Amino acid sequence: MTGPIEERVKPAAQVARDPDFRYREELMKRRAALLARTRAVERDLERTDAPVSASRNEQAGERSNDDVLCAIGETDAKELAAISLALRRIELGSYGLCTLCGHKIAPERLRVLPHAEYCESCALIEDAKHGAAR
Ligand SMILES: [Zn+2]
Repeated sequence: MTGPIEERVKPAAQVARDPDFRYREELMKRRAALLARTRAVERDLERTDAPVSASRNEQAGERSNDDVLCAIGETDAKELAAISLALRRIELGSYGLCTLCGHKIAPERLRVLPHAEYCESCALIEDAKHGAAR
């Protein structure tokens, strides 16, 4: 994973006309910050030589420094994946539409969460599902 991160970069003029371009900028910035932090966490994990993929159950109750580092990495990895998907949706022209019901995601929501995948009501349903599973 040493290749360039930006596979296809739109020409500047095209980006400027794109109504979603400010979200795109926001997403790119966020992604760069996350990647930098993820690398720093990975370096820390290498130093301590901790098992990175130990399951949550095995480690339950044990809150060592490594667990915290793993948790950060996991959250960042999820957000990175969500950001990549959002950038893809911008390219495909479906950005800002809920991936579940297809309705428009409120701009206020996108401002707070530019990589939002669901509209507010679908997000609530998803949260409830995952909350119950945990
Ligand atoms: Zn929805």
